Amino acid sequence: MFDYHIHTSISFDSEESPEAVIKEAEKLGLSEICFTDHHDLNGKPDGVHYLFTLEDYSKAYDHLVSDKVKIRRGIEMGLTLWNKEVAEEFIKGREFDFVLGSVHYADGYDPYFPEFWDGIDFRQGVDKYLKDTIECVKLHDDFDVLGHLTYVFKSTHNPTHSTLPYSEVRDMADEIMKILVAKGKGMEINTSGVDKAGDFLPSIDYLKRFRELGGEIVTIGSDAHDVSRLGQYSKEAMAMAKEVFGHVCTFEKRKPIFHKL
Ligand SMILES: [Zn+2]
Ligand SMILES: [Zn+2]
Repeated sequence: MFDYHIHTSISFDSEESPEAVIKEAEKLGLSEICFTDHHDLNGKPDGVHYLFTLEDYSKAYDHLVSDKVKIRRGIEMGLTLWNKEVAEEFIKGREFDFVLGSVHYADGYDPYFPEFWDGIDFRQGVDKYLKDTIECVKLHDDFDVLGHLTYVFKSTHNPTHSTLPYSEVRDMADEIMKILVAKGKGMEINTSGVDKAGDFLPSIDYLKRFRELGGEIVTIGSDAHDVSRLGQYSKEAMAMAKEVFGHVCTFEKRKPIFHKL
């Protein structure tokens, strides 16, 4: 089993130690993990950015070894409408195994926080998020897999605390997925939505459509910010990947490795 979306204290919103993650991964029997710390540039250039330095990153991860778990070093790069050059410049700074591109802002606001939802209802929030995601995946090229396509559902401030099926957002989801396919990018099955919104981010109907459109690359990530969520629902996500794709991917030096299921 793999977990390709993990945060530690290198991320602004985690206090977990990389060593503890490896210990827990060994205990859980995970065969490969990838650290994907936030390098999150605010939706507005003059907003608050949540960044790490490559020096801190190297200090935290470069010495780590395990004879049981393969350790990959990645990044969760926040994709915004203005940070293409800044993001590319930062990624150039070291050899990452994996770049997860994630949209955390729409119209300058993060749906995880209440301000995003001020004056708009659930449907308007969903549309706003997916609309910016379309523009972000159009603009950016330097990422391998799109993180949590349906992140907007995960927020505790999502007024419905639920998700929408693919059929309800067909046009926008198709546009995003077609761009990903054309650019050779993958899709993440983010398992953190199961507890927070009642389904995977995205759910199986989106994944089936991605496959139908020619999408091949798929990774599984818990989005754990501490060891208690490491590998959570990975088994179930693996079963979904098997059903839809017949394989799941890991990455080494930005190249996908396909594991037949
Ligand atoms: Zn994220
Ligand atoms: Zn994350």
